[in-house]
Amino acid sequence: MAEFDVDLFVIGGGSGGVRAARIAAGYGAKVMVAEEYRMGGTCVIRGCVPKKLFVLGSHVRHEIADAAGFGWTIPEFSFDWSTLVANKDKEIARLEGIYAANVEKSGARIAKTRAVLEDAHTLRLLTGETVTAKYILIATGGAPNHGREIPGIEHVISSNEAFHLTELPKRIVIQGGGYIALEFAGIFAGFGSDVTVIYRGDNILRGFDEDVRKHVRAEMEKQGITIITGCTIDKVDKHGKEFTTHLSSGSSIASDQVMFAIGRHPNVANLGLEKAGVAINPANGGIAVDEWSKTSVDNIYAIGDVTHRLNLTPVAIREGHAFADTVFGKRPVQVDHATIPTAVFSQPEVGTVGLTEAQARAQVSHVDIYKADFRPIKATMSGRDTRVLMKLVVDGTTDRVLGCHIVGDTAAEIVQAVAIAVKMKATKADFDATIALHPTAAEELVTMR
Ligand code: FAD
Ligand code: NDP
Repeated sequence: MAEFDVDLFVIGGGSGGVRAARIAAGYGAKVMVAEEYRMGGTCVIRGCVPKKLFVLGSHVRHEIADAAGFGWTIPEFSFDWSTLVANKDKEIARLEGIYAANVEKSGARIAKTRAVLEDAHTLRLLTGETVTAKYILIATGGAPNHGREIPGIEHVISSNEAFHLTELPKRIVIQGGGYIALEFAGIFAGFGSDVTVIYRGDNILRGFDEDVRKHVRAEMEKQGITIITGCTIDKVDKHGKEFTTHLSSGSSIASDQVMFAIGRHPNVANLGLEKAGVAINPANGGIAVDEWSKTSVDNIYAIGDVTHRLNLTPVAIREGHAFADTVFGKRPVQVDHATIPTAVFSQPEVGTVGLTEAQARAQVSHVDIYKADFRPIKATMSGRDTRVLMKLVVDGTTDRVLGCHIVGDTAAEIVQAVAIAVKMKATKADFDATIALHPTAAEELVTMR
């Protein structure tokens, strides 16, 4: 009789957990995955995918506005929020089914329930079942932060609820200046809501290149989004269906929804970590792991948002895959967390890879900056008041391109390809040797001198 019920027990059927389960099962391991909510996890159910569908939907407004300059007369148009939400829900349900089917096809078994650790080899399921496992992978993801307990916090929604609102708010106040706040500011503004962003610092997108921060803010403000910096929300009152948001500056704003997008925390609570001896990383509150994603307990690993390293889907997937290769495929793989491209799907969107100008200046003695700030060709006909930013950060001594930062339509698509060059340590001379593809916005990357 086998010593354990399964070779691998995965807690969490999200981006990372699903990849690890499928790859491990492919190596012949007996695998079980517990998912307490919906297969696919945050990215598929209430993150990247529905968010991108909303971004695409809201972008249609800009296309309509741009059409007249190209000779189109668009008769009366209207937008129906409930159709959007229903179609999005249908697509998400389809993807959820595909995720579950793929896991089952790989031979892994799904338990649709919550699982917690009883000890280093035992899991307790909410169904009452107990399962023993040789290896355990914790891939429980994260959840929205609510911040400090302010009066009226119960009236505030997070991105989780924003995907299921029964009505499009005519006015919304969003607190935060990071990914989710700016993505939803663009979404709601595109659908016609009056949007106010409240951010505690001096400018949005802290951590991004300074030129990117200024450019995005200016472009969002041109679209009519109000961005109030240097303050926080101290209190939210509700009167009937309306909310009054009180700011630390003393002023107040009336709206139909108030949303917080002030970061996410790793799902480590009530998981039985202490019973199994799994340590938390005091620096970030996530599960502490080494470069193999191994926790403080030899047979327990953790990947994705629960480790609070880089909270991006492709990172969770890569970590899950590397874990399965290492432990079950006899192919030790470490994930390289350097030079990972990322995008903020604000409108306009941001695509970035590598070092910001400030980071480069702190790391190398001589930095060359190449910048283009221009009106995109489409705007010349549409009349839209918008500009694109492209910036290359170059090591002046080695000529290596250290960073690329783009703000404008399709910035994410462009940066995905540029990231290959940056990862391969391309030099500015390599960029210059590449002949432009004309007429594109991206050609600026190989013509900046
Ligand atoms: P998750 O995908 O969160 O999966 C964890 C799963 O574990 C969940 O399904 C949860 O229900 C389950 N679970 C938790 N505890 C238990 C338990 N005890 N028992 C059983 N099941 C449990 N990233 C990008 O790269 N690009 C984007 O555009 C992007 N957009 C985003 C937009 C939003 C609004 C949000 C919130 C996130 C976005 N992200 C994006 C981040 C991305 O969603 C996460 O980095 C990614 O989902 C992390 O994967 P994971 O496997 O670590 O966790
Ligand atoms: P972010 O960390 O991106 O942004 C959080 C924002 O909230 C920051 O502006 C931060 O300010 C502010 N903030 C933090 N705490 C408080 C507080 N107590 N009071 C007021 N403001 C506060 O988190 P998000 O919630 O936007 O997203 C979570 C993560 O999910 C992202 O970091 C990213 O990893 C992932 N994600 C990725 C996406 C993508 O790839 N396109 C899209 C969405 C999410 P400050 O800067 O001053 O700390």
